[in-house]
Amino acid sequence: MRIPLERSGKVPLYAQIANFLRAAILSGKLPSQTRMPSARRLAGDLGISRMTVEAAYAALEAEGLVRREMGSGTFVMARRHSPASVRVNVPEIWPQWQHELVANCASWHEGAMVDAPAPLRAENAIAFGSGTGDARRFPLADFRTVMRSVLQRDGKEALEYGETCGYAPLRRTISELLSVHGLQAGADDVLVTSGSQQGLALVAQLLLRPGDSVVVERPTYAAALPLFRAMAARIVDVPVDREGMRVDLLDKALQRYHPRLIYTIPNFQNPTGVCMSAGRRRSVVALAERYGVAVLEDDFVGDLRYGGRAQPPLKALDRTGGIIYVSTFSKMLMPGVRVGFIHADGPVLELLAGLKRLTDLATSSALQRALHRYVSIGRYDAHLRRARRLYATRRDTMARALERYFPPGSEFDLAEGGLFLWVALPRGYVTSELLRPAWKAGVGFAPGEEFFVDRSSGDRFLRLNFAAVTPEEIERGIRNLGRVIAESSQ
Ligand code: PMP
Repeated sequence: MRIPLERSGKVPLYAQIANFLRAAILSGKLPSQTRMPSARRLAGDLGISRMTVEAAYAALEAEGLVRREMGSGTFVMARRHSPASVRVNVPEIWPQWQHELVANCASWHEGAMVDAPAPLRAENAIAFGSGTGDARRFPLADFRTVMRSVLQRDGKEALEYGETCGYAPLRRTISELLSVHGLQAGADDVLVTSGSQQGLALVAQLLLRPGDSVVVERPTYAAALPLFRAMAARIVDVPVDREGMRVDLLDKALQRYHPRLIYTIPNFQNPTGVCMSAGRRRSVVALAERYGVAVLEDDFVGDLRYGGRAQPPLKALDRTGGIIYVSTFSKMLMPGVRVGFIHADGPVLELLAGLKRLTDLATSSALQRALHRYVSIGRYDAHLRRARRLYATRRDTMARALERYFPPGSEFDLAEGGLFLWVALPRGYVTSELLRPAWKAGVGFAPGEEFFVDRSSGDRFLRLNFAAVTPEEIERGIRNLGRVIAESSQ
């Protein structure tokens, strides 16, 4: 096989090989089930080391494009889901560099978020696929009031850039919120970000270099996967069970892959809803310390607990500055405010702030001031209390509806908090194939495949948001979904 390589270029050789093969797979030039040349042979053809070819194959495997079978070789995987946005056949009118970009970005530029296509997106569709709380319960009137009073109080200052690390009074307020969870953070230990997605992206950009390994949970937050792929990282997934990440397997992965970063969502994990046990939390922290690996702790819904005992954040167990804690007001309050934050110790926080400055200079000063006022006059606490009561009831309503309308043999655990129930259908179902009929029946959901590196492991799972929907919608939506599932198996 001939692959044009630029030996003195900036892109590592393994990445050039992976880019070339990826484009060939996505364009269909290398069809499903094609057996790739052995690493030894391709290395010989190209006059490079076998390790380089191995690294390229590993990157493609992490993207779910090839499958490596011990003893028999590397094969192109079937692509059941050719992402709409990956158009390898870009019309000729665009310059060559745009064609190259499309090929080079194919690993992460895919329709990662499954949204119903416009014609199927019914006006009153039931949004079990949502990733947030109920927009109809956003505290609109309160927020209008605080916004007005902040603009009156601060005038044009509220509309200037503001500090890169965030509005100081808000950072102080965040440090007080964190102290409730046993985190001793001063205002200067907090960096405000534009949502926690920016926090995750900054950490990934700062820590990861092409070819570095990153450990994620299996399954994990769908938008974290393309983020790590965009850094050309090798993704190593470690299964989650009822107690959170399997630390025995994490230990093995740390020994084998020497990752740069462990990404975990200990509270009410996205998508499984699992809350990591106290023992596992201690083990993750101890393992990360022992192997000298950074941990990115994503606490996106930690304050939405409906039962069980609160567990300390990993960051509260951190004695060495190894853990970077990221959180957000998006789920506990509303996503459009775009305020999240990072709490970390040591020089990493300043470097993250430096990188943020390069990215967006600062998060909206007006919105930070409004949020600060909203929290400091006690509205946030009151909102959280209401949201917890409301969402707990909705979770129970959904659980009852699932028992009633889903096929026998379906399984789920009652999440102790957060937004989601993670449901396994009996073997044989492929939930991504149920999406279209579900949309037609006016119901959305998140198919399991989005949350797995190899997609197909998620075939029989679906993630259902119980918080964004009313009890009446839950009853009607789960009944309709149950019908769609039943009809699919006839
Ligand atoms: N982490 C997780 C686990 C999420 O589900 C989300 C939102 N979908 C985010 C981070 C990012 O949210 P935001 O940028 O709105 O804070």
